[in-house]
Amino acid sequence: MKDKIILHVDANSFYASVECARHPELKNLPVAVSGNPKKRNGIILAKNEIAKKCGVQTGEAIWQAKDKCPNLVCIYPDMPLYEEYSKKMHKIFEKYTHLIEGMGLDECWLDITQTAHLFGGAENLATKIRTEIKENLGITVSVGISFCKLFAKLGSDLKKPDAQTVISRQNFKEIVYPLPIESIIGIGHRSAKKLHKMNVFTLGDFLEVPAYILKNNFSVVFYELRKKLLGFDSDEIASIYTPTPPKSIGNGTTTLVDIFTKEEIRSTLVFLAEKISARLRAKGFYANALSVHIRTTTFQHSGKNIVLPKSINSAKDIVKYSMELIEKFWNFDEKIRSIRISTHHLTSGDCTQLTIFQMAEEKKSALNVALDEIRKKYGKQSIQPASMISQNLVRDNFS
Ligand SMILES: [Mg+2]
Repeated sequence: MKDKIILHVDANSFYASVECARHPELKNLPVAVSGNPKKRNGIILAKNEIAKKCGVQTGEAIWQAKDKCPNLVCIYPDMPLYEEYSKKMHKIFEKYTHLIEGMGLDECWLDITQTAHLFGGAENLATKIRTEIKENLGITVSVGISFCKLFAKLGSDLKKPDAQTVISRQNFKEIVYPLPIESIIGIGHRSAKKLHKMNVFTLGDFLEVPAYILKNNFSVVFYELRKKLLGFDSDEIASIYTPTPPKSIGNGTTTLVDIFTKEEIRSTLVFLAEKISARLRAKGFYANALSVHIRTTTFQHSGKNIVLPKSINSAKDIVKYSMELIEKFWNFDEKIRSIRISTHHLTSGDCTQLTIFQMAEEKKSALNVALDEIRKKYGKQSIQPASMISQNLVRDNFS
């Protein structure tokens, strides 16, 4: 079968670049987008190239960044503006293909297998996209060009800003295998640590680990990753014209205060689960798998996923299984900055086998439908679980 041609387009220092495009007078100054120093979110979220050269790092406190770079201009994030720029980038992509898959606001995969020849080949098309974004939006992007999604993403990371990298069937082993394992999407901080202990530092080392060792010591994701690194990645990119059911529905939040105890975590889960549950029910979906992801105040990531013993769509069940999952991987020994729950393997009906508890389940689901109706009529805040009112941990729409 003929190889696909995939581009991964990644906007460089997206938030900071958009701010510099909006305020050209800042272009030659070190600029960072940061939280509000008066609240707990007083950290650097993104920085431009000049700030980067001063040593400013994403995730550090504003005062630490200003120690290194006293004239650093800190700007509070303007999410609607970044969303607008993201939409404009997508409009440019749509001139070249309808197979587009976004990741966050600033990254996107494009399948240009059928269209590259119309624009002088993949490299010329990538250059066109870079030029057009630069001229129309005043920001730069890096592009990875490859035969699969994984390598295209790696490629966009290799040269930046405003550059493009080809990872082909011919050169992928030479380019990819010497890279550190952390450079790949899917290998988090904790797994990297575990792999380092096994003397695995590069992606080449990773491939030397026998498949059964990966299967027994890590999640199934790693086994899949191994196949992809060997060049067998058949992940598809869906058309923007084909309405596909979402792969997952999730919600995350950054808390206003550090959270630590089980009770604080549970309250945050309730907040997230209420929203996810409403979205699942609005579309008539049930979730058959669930994942929870935690980020600590020191920017360490942890997460786990499970296949659920039954199909769920109530907030109560989402909280129950999320909490059970957290208890499996979290020691409650570090302060938490943000939590995300995602529900996966969505089906349009309840796949659960009938049980003697079905009556009770039906009652619960009727209650949930009634709650949705009340919220629709009187607003989201009209009815809430008591735990969300008693603990002021989260604020709406910040995730
Ligand atoms: Mg980016």
